[in-house]
Amino acid sequence: MRAPFPETRVPPGIAAADWCDWRWQMRSRIRDADALSRVATADPDETEAIAKLSDRFHFVITPYYAALMDPEDADCPIRRQVVPRTAELDDPAGLADPLDEVAHSPVKNVIRVYPDRIAFCVNNECALYCRYCLRKRMVGEPEWAMKKQELGEALDWIRATPEIRDVLLTGGDPLTFSDERLAWLLGELRAIDHVEILRLGTRLPVTLPFRVTPELCRLLADHHPVWLNTHFNHPRELSAEAAESCDRLTRAGVPVGNQSVLLRGINDDPATMKALCEGLVRMRVRPYYCYQAQLLEGTEHFRVPVERGIEIFKALRGRTSGFAIPEYVLDTPHGKVPLQHRWLRGRDGDDVLVETWDGAIWREPNPG
Ligand code: SF4
Repeated sequence: MRAPFPETRVPPGIAAADWCDWRWQMRSRIRDADALSRVATADPDETEAIAKLSDRFHFVITPYYAALMDPEDADCPIRRQVVPRTAELDDPAGLADPLDEVAHSPVKNVIRVYPDRIAFCVNNECALYCRYCLRKRMVGEPEWAMKKQELGEALDWIRATPEIRDVLLTGGDPLTFSDERLAWLLGELRAIDHVEILRLGTRLPVTLPFRVTPELCRLLADHHPVWLNTHFNHPRELSAEAAESCDRLTRAGVPVGNQSVLLRGINDDPATMKALCEGLVRMRVRPYYCYQAQLLEGTEHFRVPVERGIEIFKALRGRTSGFAIPEYVLDTPHGKVPLQHRWLRGRDGDDVLVETWDGAIWREPNPG
């Protein structure tokens, strides 16, 4: 029997009731080097980066997520995801909007790449700001906030576009909305006949699991079918609190998937990726996609060569449950492209030759 997921330690001086209150966590977020130094030993490179980057891509962490960090190690895989480093200043190839999302937006914050589905960026706020965030142009920036009138204009566009059957609410993070605002938005979307599926893209089960309250789960269950994809990147994010939030969601009938990003020095080795995916499956969270990191400004130090990514996912095949292996994909302005080892090795007469997970070549007669 595997050990249970570890509980996160509540720092001294904080009442347990506050710690478990998602609004207290949002109000108490770490926003500067001084606050960070109270929970982690200061690192000169981090301190310099916080000073130089604060006006370019903000720095915010929930106390809960900070408690997952190694306070003595600036290279800790949790800390590197959220604390700035000076390497962010040196990335000549990085782009502000590598997927050309602004050009794919018929109305503000509605991104349409495929005929039948959209990503609807309902807000500009997250519990914390990931340093490799695809939407760093938007997250924490007031100009990308959505006023109720702008949300209404986006809803009007969806109503007037009958091909749209699948709406992904993303951001930012839609679960930073109050229950009241979320209920209004889900209700408006559910009232549109051609919208069959509602999806939520949220990192809060990872970064602020206390947001997943019984009330929120009831609200989501009232608007089924609702699907949810979250974003764990490392096995150390698999805490007892995160497991409980995912358990609540799945018990409410919300299928939960995971979309990770392949990040250098964080999860770019088969053992870490296997531990992450197997832990997710124990939480009843399906590893769905692992993204190749985009050519995004300030993220050169996170990017991994595609060949390395293919090797990592090849190494999982046959060594864990098939449904524990996510699809490794590259997102492009034209949509997602699967990146895979070529298991099909060729043809010999009427047979096809395939490589098996243990390195053998299997000959299979191929129907004409
Ligand atoms: S939670 Fe998602 S949208 Fe928010 S900063 Fe992280 S990657 Fe970006």
